[in-house]
Amino acid sequence: MKLSTMHDLFVAQLRDIYSAEQQITKALPKLARAAANATLAEAFRSHLLETEGQIGRLETIFGILDVSSRGPKCKGMEGLLAEGADTVRAEGANEVIDAGLIADAQRVEHYEISAYGSAKALAALLGYKQIGMLLEETEVQEVATDMKLTAIALNEVNPAALGMHAAA
Ligand code: FE
Ligand code: FE
Repeated sequence: MKLSTMHDLFVAQLRDIYSAEQQITKALPKLARAAANATLAEAFRSHLLETEGQIGRLETIFGILDVSSRGPKCKGMEGLLAEGADTVRAEGANEVIDAGLIADAQRVEHYEISAYGSAKALAALLGYKQIGMLLEETEVQEVATDMKLTAIALNEVNPAALGMHAAA
């Protein structure tokens, strides 16, 4: 990878996000299957559909830039998803595991919000208005997903998981 210009950096950042999103599409079905809470499982499934659309938006962006989407594997996302896989494999109380899945998934969303924020800033710097709008659309979905996960934790999963103390 050569980073001589801000355009090089922009493309490298987009490829990293593309790799991250592809890894996420493989992980979300596993998270959905692992979730005991139906609202949480549904949130993972609906975010999988959104993520497929996000990959489509990135492909549109690579088309506009006339560059390949291929790049190194996103190691940050690989690490975050490895932690999620540890939680999926965990034994114990379903409600507590669900709370752990939410914590793992929110790390993923925050990584994405950060990555799209940086990419959006580079798009603005380089004068790519349409690309900036596409990145913004995805960023809005990531923020909404993060907020939805917070609501599921606060309203359903965390109170249920806390009750496991009484049951234990
Ligand atoms: Fe995403
Ligand atoms: Fe996401």
